[in-house]
Amino acid sequence: MYNRKKIQEDIPEVITKIWSCASEDCNGWMRANFSFDQTPTCVLCQSPMISGERMLPLIVNLNDSVKLSAVVNTAE
Ligand SMILES: [Zn+2]
Repeated sequence: MYNRKKIQEDIPEVITKIWSCASEDCNGWMRANFSFDQTPTCVLCQSPMISGERMLPLIVNLNDSVKLSAVVNTAE
């Protein structure tokens, strides 16, 4: 039995590096964790993206997901 009590609600938000679409008309953005070495292209409109910051739940990068699942697995 997995005990997933309120994990989502307890996650604090932190300022996270992101890429955001340079187009004013587009809301496209992505977390910068995965591709900071080169400027990505917006998946929605193919515009270049610019680096920025956004308040996001802390959970997000792959390492944290792995940790979280490890916690869940050992909480039985
Ligand atoms: Zn875009």
